Amino acid sequence: MSPQELWDAVLGELELEVSKANFHSWCKDTFILSMENNVITVGVPNDFTKQWFEKKYHERVLKALRRIRDEDVKRVIYEVSSKQKASAVQASPTVKAPVEKKEHPTVIVQKPAQEKPPETTSEKGVAFGLSPRYTFDNFIVGKKNELAHAACLAAADKPGVVYNPLFIYGGVGLGKTHLMQAVGHSVLEARPDAKLLYVTCETFTNEYIKAVGEGGAHQFKEKYRSVDVFMVDDVQFLAGKEGTQEEFFHTFNFLQQYNKQIILTSDRPPRAIPTIEDRLASRFEGGMTVDVGPPDLETRIAIIDQKCKEKNYPLEPEVSQFIASNVQNNIRELEGALNRVIGKHQLDKSAPTVDSVKAVLSSVGGTQKRGAVTPKKILTTVSDYFDIDEESLKGSSRKKELVVPRQITMYLMREETHASFPNIGAELGGRDHTTAMHACTKINKLLDEDEKMENDVSMIKQRLYNS
Ligand code: ADP
Ligand code: MG
Repeated sequence: MSPQELWDAVLGELELEVSKANFHSWCKDTFILSMENNVITVGVPNDFTKQWFEKKYHERVLKALRRIRDEDVKRVIYEVSSKQKASAVQASPTVKAPVEKKEHPTVIVQKPAQEKPPETTSEKGVAFGLSPRYTFDNFIVGKKNELAHAACLAAADKPGVVYNPLFIYGGVGLGKTHLMQAVGHSVLEARPDAKLLYVTCETFTNEYIKAVGEGGAHQFKEKYRSVDVFMVDDVQFLAGKEGTQEEFFHTFNFLQQYNKQIILTSDRPPRAIPTIEDRLASRFEGGMTVDVGPPDLETRIAIIDQKCKEKNYPLEPEVSQFIASNVQNNIRELEGALNRVIGKHQLDKSAPTVDSVKAVLSSVGGTQKRGAVTPKKILTTVSDYFDIDEESLKGSSRKKELVVPRQITMYLMREETHASFPNIGAELGGRDHTTAMHACTKINKLLDEDEKMENDVSMIKQRLYNS
């Protein structure tokens, strides 16, 4: 089997396991660069793809390679390289092609030549609806947002060319709006004459309804179709709005056709938005889809330190560590907690200590609200998330659309409230405890294998702890 055939077979397996949009985004221009001593090197087009393979697809690639290849596969590594370059040098499949320079080729934003004073572009950004605070400079990159960050840098570097649309999804307060607007600022710095438009989905909807009502459809179209970068925040709110979806669809197509950059955010991936038209969901998936997740501890500490620096209010390391350990859900909450701590201590003219901070956070309920998650809340959250009613979730129908959410509910009751299996069965309309056990085993297994499941469960948890 030639390296090419081997890789085609691996991609064939991968294609069955990941979404179509992801498959097209990530797998094109990948190939086997070399096979030496049972170490397979896969060539990928850029650093961003390399990270993605390492983080998300590695297990699958390794598994597939081991299954398909007769000989043992010890290790798989990924290297940035282009196919042409590789084949030009590749005399035999085992000769290694030179690797392109390790700098992130697609994700570096050229620093703009500073002919214009920076205030001008920032003021311009504000006129287009951007907040001056949301720039790449003050965005902290951690494990859970690095891919989204890299994708945004790439889009800012080559608007309309590389990832169109760029679809960013994740729970509340995790930096989606910040990242999206950072692209806007960055495009403006490089091209001060670019026309941008940032709107929330709500604004788009309201303006559309108003335009239809007042006969201003023409101005509406003109406004939305004349931009170079179109940013729409929280597109999950298109759910259920047919007329707006229709208009959105046309705006989208128009802009895309002219290679105008479109960036969208949502609290969930395109297919998971309830009652969204198929054609719109498939447009949303047609470019690049990236997620942001809740930050880990190191990232939270780095964010606190950064915010303190901005505010010129230094904190002792153990104090920022304490805040970061106790406020885990999202970054907006983290900022809120920090502001309360600073506010309170400025008022008292005292220096924050771990004890004084503990008092501030607990007095306003800023620390983890884990205790507040109950089986009832899980039922409500899951049914909201999947847009099904609670009675059906508890009921006896075995339709797939109900069975999976029901199993997720049982799994979450077990994981998040430590409820006993008999209790879980009782909460779900008097089911047997073995049903609950089976559900937990099944979801646990799926969480390892199925990206959509992983995402759904993490979104639901986000909501559980954020409301
Ligand atoms: P979302 O749109 O996902 O709900 P936002 O972009 O509004 O979240 O972020 C919430 C707050 O947290 C904002 O003030 C934002 O500046 C801040 N924030 C989010 N992510 C980061 C980050 N990685 N580094 C610094 N600040 C961040
Ligand atoms: Mg937002």
